[in-house]
Amino acid sequence: MPAVTADTLTLPRIRKLNDSDVRWRPVTGIVTAHRQLEGEGFEVRRPFPNAQLAMADPFLLLDHLGAVEYAPGEAKGAPWHPHRGFETVTYMIDGAFEHEDSTGHGGLITDGATQWMTAGAGILHSELPPQDFVARGGLFHGTQLWVNLPAAAKWNPPTYQGIGPDDVTLVSSDDGGALVRIIAGELDGQKGPGSTYTPITYLHATLSRGSRLTLPWPEAFNAMVYVLSGEGYAGHDPVPLNEGQLAVFGPGEAIDIRARDVQAAPQQDKWDILVLGGLPIGEPVARYGPFVMNTREEIVQAFEDFRSGKPATITPRDRPHLSTADSAAPTRD
Ligand code: MN
Repeated sequence: MPAVTADTLTLPRIRKLNDSDVRWRPVTGIVTAHRQLEGEGFEVRRPFPNAQLAMADPFLLLDHLGAVEYAPGEAKGAPWHPHRGFETVTYMIDGAFEHEDSTGHGGLITDGATQWMTAGAGILHSELPPQDFVARGGLFHGTQLWVNLPAAAKWNPPTYQGIGPDDVTLVSSDDGGALVRIIAGELDGQKGPGSTYTPITYLHATLSRGSRLTLPWPEAFNAMVYVLSGEGYAGHDPVPLNEGQLAVFGPGEAIDIRARDVQAAPQQDKWDILVLGGLPIGEPVARYGPFVMNTREEIVQAFEDFRSGKPATITPRDRPHLSTADSAAPTRD
């Protein structure tokens, strides 16, 4: 896949952890993503929120788009809709999304680029595959992560960070068997480009068959691994973890994961995963559809504000209507 790649032998290495005196984080749960339609009707796999895992403070939602091979005319996205109270992080591996928002920012997200949108007090945006991609069809694969904002930052003006493929920080496992892309936050002293209100670490790692990846991880952060493709094991006491599954880790100081020696799909020789964790915000969460606030009253206010055309940056001429799909999405509740 055209995520950013490199010869791991040329990269800085994550320090080797000593097996005997590390407090490894245990695996406390495995969540299988459920499938769900979003936007104009494209399917995502969503490990959370769901019945097993309501949220993963400070994260609110993780969507895995594809990998899917679209026929010509088939690719879909999410036309104009609002958000308030959190940040969306869109990471595209294959295919592309074209982003436009009510602050005038926009751009093409493709080939390992990340787009970081802080909705804050309010924004409208459109996330659509570009017309030439729709016409041609092709492989489409990406993720969208929602990161909550603390109450003190929910009313900040919206901001936008475009993170190009070359901006991502690349490191390798201590033996060179795994490539790790740091999209945001810090890993073993190396910093990624994404800047967040709430401290998080967000990685995309590619492990060769049979290779092991150990990661020092801040004790105050939660920790999760989600599988984009392939098969492996999570934990120092290994638990199988395959495509579309999320491992939730308990307390400790490091994460231990390993790719299976033999992958079931013959063309699959890698295990591709997201590793994510952050400092829990620990505040009440009221969420409905595209809004995530602290109280029910603030959710009601959000619907009223967007119906009446606030925030002020949105002029009546270009103010799109709330799509019923978004305003009524009950599973995001
Ligand atoms: Mn959106």
